[in-house]
Amino acid sequence: MEARELCRQEDSFKRFNVMRILLVEDEPDLGAAIQKVLTREKYVVDWVTDGTEAWNYLDIPKIHYTLAILDWMLPGLSGIALCQRLRAKNSALPVLMLTARDSMEDKVIGLDAGADDYLVKPFGMEELKARLRALQRRSPQLHPLQLKAGNLVLDYGTATVSVQDRQGKEQTIPVTAKEFQLLEYFMQHPNQILSRDQLMNRIWGVQDDPISNVVPAQIRLLRRRLAEFGCEDLLETVYGLGYRLNLPHVSK
Ligand code: CA
Repeated sequence: MEARELCRQEDSFKRFNVMRILLVEDEPDLGAAIQKVLTREKYVVDWVTDGTEAWNYLDIPKIHYTLAILDWMLPGLSGIALCQRLRAKNSALPVLMLTARDSMEDKVIGLDAGADDYLVKPFGMEELKARLRALQRRSPQLHPLQLKAGNLVLDYGTATVSVQDRQGKEQTIPVTAKEFQLLEYFMQHPNQILSRDQLMNRIWGVQDDPISNVVPAQIRLLRRRLAEFGCEDLLETVYGLGYRLNLPHVSK
């Protein structure tokens, strides 16, 4: 427990990441449905169908997941084995187990393996989303409720972005999932140049095979959106290097 607490504290320093979920589910229809719903909720979702492959994903040092959703019965490693491995290396990653099993004994096995919560199939997507929100609330140090930079405010609870106009009035900027994730990353690094590769690695899923100009295209859309709210100068293209969110009164 002590090691896990330590790990949690260490993780709190990495809290400035996009909300990224590893989904491990071998039923194609269910996996696709969960991925669709959570992507709409502004998560980046990496979906794999095999436990061994999932373990490889968890081992990619550059990727820090916010949460993992593990099915119990999987080809390769089971959800339980994955969970045990995670805890054995002191990972505090919040884990939601999915399973068709619902006997008390099975729940105990799942929780003993280090799962934080347990959802019995079949379940509704609303319940899944509620469980995920609860998991995030329970580790608030991992997930601040709001991120502020300059006159921009990003709210994780409502997944909205707002800006204060010159009169001090708060206006909500309607953003898509990708725009939310881009803004989040820029707001975490105000006045710093972020390269196209950095943006790509953070915001697009490992299996997304985005077209090569997806970053500039997405930036153009975001800039257009910001312009509607009088913030057209916020996002600057630094030729040959990347992009920068200019907030002159915010330190790096
Ligand atoms: Ca399964």
